[in-house]
Amino acid sequence: MRTPLVVANWKMNGTVAEARALAAGVRDGLRRPRGVEVVLCPPFTALGAVRELLAAGPIALGAQNSHWEAAGAFTGEISPPMLAELGCRYVLVGHSERRKEFGETDEQINRKVRAVLATGMAPILCVGETAEERAQGLTFTTVEGQLRAGLAGLAAAAIGFCVLAYEPVWAIGTGQHAAPAQAGEVHGYLRGLLSELATKEVAQRVRVLYGGSVKPDNAAALTAEPDIDGALVGGASLSPQGFVAIAKKVAHKGVTVLRGD
Ligand code: PEP
Repeated sequence: MRTPLVVANWKMNGTVAEARALAAGVRDGLRRPRGVEVVLCPPFTALGAVRELLAAGPIALGAQNSHWEAAGAFTGEISPPMLAELGCRYVLVGHSERRKEFGETDEQINRKVRAVLATGMAPILCVGETAEERAQGLTFTTVEGQLRAGLAGLAAAAIGFCVLAYEPVWAIGTGQHAAPAQAGEVHGYLRGLLSELATKEVAQRVRVLYGGSVKPDNAAALTAEPDIDGALVGGASLSPQGFVAIAKKVAHKGVTVLRGD
């Protein structure tokens, strides 16, 4: 049984005041979420303020990135212990924007995954193919390579603490989401790989989120797929109403799962 998870990735948006208002809107719209776990990933600068707003409530805090070292001469970087101190429970790792815009390699992403786990937080490891890779029939090869590299060297138990996000790059911020069956097939493939890399039991526990133009009107259809355990939401998470609506659609799946239907 996997509790569905909905994660807001605010990216580089919002002053602290704006982040407070957005987090308060989500908190007030989801006072007692049932059947879904919700995480907000504000920019680093707003983590402290958002933590205060969410204090003791059911919504968790996450970060959008982390360095792999705990401390040192890495100007401009933020480390896993710094994020844990601010109350983060999740960290996005290997988002396609980090891979493309900042040249993050699979090896660096693997180091980040390990460092986040070692600090007691859960990495949300993002994988996904570009439009070109998809056109060349390389979707499965690409996500498999990213998954194997991202989780390299991890014991089965450690893999069990991770969350995966399948985010086709061509679907991010484009308004063009993957067809549910198409995404569901990739999720099933990733779960199969998790069985191989860890165990079948671990693979059944790990949540695999879909990300890429998730909106209130497509969230239910996407997460109705058996292997899609929730959503990683970018643009639509900048509206409290939109994000709350998505979380509520996904919660439907969760209530069904929790009832054992
Ligand atoms: C993302 O950036 O992780 C994302 C899924 O963005 P969007 O929802 O805007 O496509």
